[in-house]
Amino acid sequence: MEQEIDIRSCDLVLAGIGEELGEDYRELYQTAEYARWKEWGLEQYAKAIWLGRQRGTDSRRERIRKAYARLREMIGEKPYFIVSLNTDGYLYEAGFDPQQMVMPCGSMRMLQCSRHILEPEEAAPLLREMEEQAAAGRRPEIPVCPVCGEPLVCNVAGGEGYLEDAYLPMWQAYTRWLAATLNRRLCVLELGVGFAYPSVIRFPFEKTVYYNRKAYLYRVHGRFPQVPEEIGGRSMSIREDALEFLLREERDGR
Ligand SMILES: [Zn+2]
Repeated sequence: MEQEIDIRSCDLVLAGIGEELGEDYRELYQTAEYARWKEWGLEQYAKAIWLGRQRGTDSRRERIRKAYARLREMIGEKPYFIVSLNTDGYLYEAGFDPQQMVMPCGSMRMLQCSRHILEPEEAAPLLREMEEQAAAGRRPEIPVCPVCGEPLVCNVAGGEGYLEDAYLPMWQAYTRWLAATLNRRLCVLELGVGFAYPSVIRFPFEKTVYYNRKAYLYRVHGRFPQVPEEIGGRSMSIREDALEFLLREERDGR
C-alpha cells in the first residue's frame, strides 16, 4: 500500500522539521578552503559564510529548497505553524510566513556574545570581513560584539552559553497557536526529526496527537519513523528519508 499524506481533510497543519531536511555541510567539508578554516580553528564561521552562498543545482541546498517548495504546495492555504531544529536558515528562504515558524536551535547566520544577539543582516558584514581576510591568506580575526566588545560566536544550540532570546517570542506564539488547535482537525507532519532534541518536536508532537482526538500524525524518517502504540490508530509511520520523500512527491506532482 502506498503511503500518502492527506492534508485536504484537515483544518490546520503543524509541521516539524529535523536533520533530514537540514544542511549537512558535506559539500563544504570536501573543499580546500574549509581545511584552512579548520586549521585556524574557525570552522563555525566557515559554515556560516558558506550557508549564505548560492550553490549548484545538484547541491543539497537546492534539493532542500525544492523539498520546501513541495511542502508549501502541500500545505496550500491551510493555517500552519512550523517548528524546525535546523540552523541553516534555508526555511527563511522558502517563502513561508516568518510569523508562522520557530527555530529553537538558533541560526548559524546570527552571532552572539554572552549577552547580545546580532541578527543575520548585522552579522553578514562581519562574516564578510572574515571571508576577505581569509581570501587574502590571513587567519581571520574573530569578530567582536559592537555593543560590548566581546568575541562573537554563532547563535546556535549546543554552543557554549547559547542565548535563547532570539526565538522565544516565536516560541510563545507557537504555544498559543497550538493551544487553539485542541479539538480541531490538526494534521501533524513530522519530517526527518531524529533524536537530537526529542523534547522539542518528537515527544510534544506525540502528546499533541494523544490529547487531540481529531489530530493525525505523519512521521517520516529514514531510520526512526516509529510511533508509540497509544496513538497507533491516528498516525502513519513512513520509513523514508524526509528529503527523498518530499522530492519524490514533487516529481510525482501529487
Ligand atoms: Zn555584546
